[in-house]
Amino acid sequence: MSLCRLVYYSERNPAVALDTRTLIATCHKNNAPRSLTGMLHYNGTYFLQVLEGGRADVSAIYHRIATDPRHINLILIGCMDVRERLFPTWSMGLHEGMGDRTKEIFLRYFPKERFDPESINVDSLLDVMQDIATEL
Ligand code: FAD
Repeated sequence: MSLCRLVYYSERNPAVALDTRTLIATCHKNNAPRSLTGMLHYNGTYFLQVLEGGRADVSAIYHRIATDPRHINLILIGCMDVRERLFPTWSMGLHEGMGDRTKEIFLRYFPKERFDPESINVDSLLDVMQDIATEL
């Protein structure tokens, strides 16, 4: 089975309660047995997520995530076969918030120091996710 990487962003649904600790515990519980790995960034408004693993497993979990009412307006920005994982040791790393260091990272790759859907491209987003992963 091909190794693939899927990248999307979404908006938090303010009408539905969100507990990120519960959410990430579910990610670990479900992802680890399927050898799914990745990184989730939540800035209080947007989620950015990278999912890596076998193509069928990534596809199945994405379809499940896409129906989750805790977020809305999912935009898929990339799904590609890859030779190597970017986040091989995390069944799902969670990075929350927009501290000064995170703003610096966004400013390095994007016109603004925050996530802006208008200026998103998958390569820069993956660079951001790798850099903010070093903060964890
Ligand atoms: P359960 O073990 O039955 O539920 C786990 C816990 O999640 C429950 O205690 C419950 O409180 C809470 N929960 C479940 N659904 C809701 C809901 N609709 N509203 C509020 N709380 C709820 N799942 C993964 O397995 N892997 C991922 O990488 C992943 N990434 C996600 C990223 C985002 C941004 C979001 C919003 C969700 C993500 N999910 C992920 C969760 C996914 O959408 C499903 O909720 C989850 O996979 C269900 O797994 P389960 O049946 O084992 O849940």
